Amino acid sequence: MSYDDNNIFAKILRGDIPCKKVHEDEHVLAFHDISPRAPVHILVIPKGKYESIADFGAKGSAEEVKAFYAAVSAIAQEQGLAEAGFRVIANTGLNGGQEVPHFHVHILGGKKLGPMLAQAA
Ligand code: AMP
Repeated sequence: MSYDDNNIFAKILRGDIPCKKVHEDEHVLAFHDISPRAPVHILVIPKGKYESIADFGAKGSAEEVKAFYAAVSAIAQEQGLAEAGFRVIANTGLNGGQEVPHFHVHILGGKKLGPMLAQAA
């Protein structure tokens, strides 16, 4: 599979469509999810063209991977989530329910989030 330059997060990175930015550095952009599922729901994406967490883990540089997880940590602190706890989700591929084919993690928090999945296997 090759990276789709027309995915919605590629458009956000190019500035073609707006986002509610919460963090930006050389390698990372983070913004509020347009359809929040929790009081705090932020998406964190690498600026590089990676389709999924598997793609990022296999091909991302050490600098990119470090910057990504440092940003997740900093955002959790800045948003006041670190002490009470939060959840990070990386939906991946068809079975994972990934809708946008540019790697992203969801940071969710601001309340008790309940069980990890809606129903058991
Ligand atoms: P996933 O199912 O993990 O691929 O999640 C994609 C997420 O992107 C969903 O939670 C959407 O609500 C969110 N989303 C889609 N379009 C936008 C947008 N333009 N700005 C912010 N979030 C978006």
